[in-house]
Amino acid sequence: MKYCYECGTKLTPQMLKGEGMIPYCPQCGKYRFPIFSTAVSMIVRSPQHDKILLIQQYGTGSNVLVAGYINKGESAEEAVVREVKEEIGIDVSELDFNKTAYFARTNTLMINFVCTADTTDLSRVNTEEVDKAAWFTPQEALAAIKPDSLAQRFLRISLNA
Ligand SMILES: [Zn+2]
Repeated sequence: MKYCYECGTKLTPQMLKGEGMIPYCPQCGKYRFPIFSTAVSMIVRSPQHDKILLIQQYGTGSNVLVAGYINKGESAEEAVVREVKEEIGIDVSELDFNKTAYFARTNTLMINFVCTADTTDLSRVNTEEVDKAAWFTPQEALAAIKPDSLAQRFLRISLNA
């Protein structure tokens, strides 16, 4: 970030106690920390932990993980529960942090969790947002997930594959 996102003034690095050199706007009199979005993605396991949920969206035909942006004021864990409920229509619990990764194309920090569904029933999937949702064994999921995607990386880390 070279210019202030409020007023457009050129930023200059200035020492901030405890943080080091931080871009500073002399016009606004404020430090300007980097701005990016934060999102969660979820490795949703079946109640028995033997299957993994993959979905297809937006007509791409690619199998990916359920994911969504974190709302302002919301914790990452709350976003996990809300997004799975909104998109798949099921409740999840047993959230475990897995890994984060920065996705440059959308300037988004992705926070990946493993969580457990309370049912394998996919009859309440939100068909406006999700083209297809299905359960896969871990081996099937590794083979089916979108190649060279963040989802694939998260899944491999989680499964030690
Ligand atoms: Zn400014």
